[in-house]
Amino acid sequence: MIMGQLSRFWRESEHRYRLMGTRCENCGRVYFPPREVCPTCHRESIGKMKDLELSGEGVIESFTIVHEAPPRFSRQKPYVLALIKTEEGPMITGQIVDCDPSEVEIGKRVHAVFRRMGEDGDTGVIVYGYKFALD
Ligand SMILES: [Zn+2]
Repeated sequence: MIMGQLSRFWRESEHRYRLMGTRCENCGRVYFPPREVCPTCHRESIGKMKDLELSGEGVIESFTIVHEAPPRFSRQKPYVLALIKTEEGPMITGQIVDCDPSEVEIGKRVHAVFRRMGEDGDTGVIVYGYKFALD
């Protein structure tokens, strides 16, 4: 994806479409999902945890091709589940979409994409979540 498209995408997105983490101002470590207290600095991090929006850019550290899928995902199988090391540091597990599983390799660059995950039957609320696509 071209950078300009990506930043426009982020700007127009609402909070729920963003990857919000936290950064410890004491040691500089970044956490996703957000944390209230830095697990390294403990007490020294109190009041120093700042919101940080992850770029969604990262590299595949490892992956597995999942052949068994629950019924609600049956149209998608097999799918690729990968461990992604983000630019900012945190590791995120996510599904790699829009590619053939054979294209996925360790070390390949990916970026976050937001997809409709499903709908809550009772409330009609549409649930979105992040996935990743190859750059
Ligand atoms: Zn810290």
